[in-house]
Amino acid sequence: MTKHDFCHVDTWVFDLDNTLYSPELRLFDQIELRMTQFVMDTLNVDHAEANRLRALYWHEHGTTLAGLMRVHGMAPDEYLIAVHDIDMSPLTPDPALRARITALPGRKIIYTNGTAPYATRVAAARGLDGIFDAVYGVEHAGFAPKPDAEAFRAVFDADGLTASRAAMFEDDPRNLAVPHAMGLRTVHVAPQPHRAAHIHHHTDDLSGFLARVI
Ligand SMILES: [Mg+2]
Repeated sequence: MTKHDFCHVDTWVFDLDNTLYSPELRLFDQIELRMTQFVMDTLNVDHAEANRLRALYWHEHGTTLAGLMRVHGMAPDEYLIAVHDIDMSPLTPDPALRARITALPGRKIIYTNGTAPYATRVAAARGLDGIFDAVYGVEHAGFAPKPDAEAFRAVFDADGLTASRAAMFEDDPRNLAVPHAMGLRTVHVAPQPHRAAHIHHHTDDLSGFLARVI
């Protein structure tokens, strides 16, 4: 990687879960448990069947919620409130990451498949409050999730970003395919690399990576 790869970037798009905090904190495990419980309760199925359906919906529709909405006609609000009502205490402030994101030139935004209020709570728990110009959640894309192209288009249009001058940081490799096709610089943030043509860069250290791009 060279600084030249990012010198054209004026909008920095960050996923939230497992990107702005380490997957080692296993925060998302709490959400996973709540998702499974919600499927059990609302579809009246046992634990194994709920997990099978969740895996199926994740594969075919991108998220559990998208499957529940498309296959079962479920409204999103109750689900989104239930699954995001988690304990934030594993999260600790990250002053180094705050400094690196603050130093980036241009707009900094969060785009999560969770909700914007949830993202705001997570960002605050990481000491990253007040440094993002906008926070977008699944509600800003009509509840269509990443990796759907329509979801990215809705959020990027709402933000007004120019794809060819933007970069996206994300832990789920699937969610970098559409941004890459739209012309964004793509950075996979995860402990292990994932080789794919739509991934320009990989890092297991977001702060360290950002320190090298400007
Ligand atoms: Mg994520």
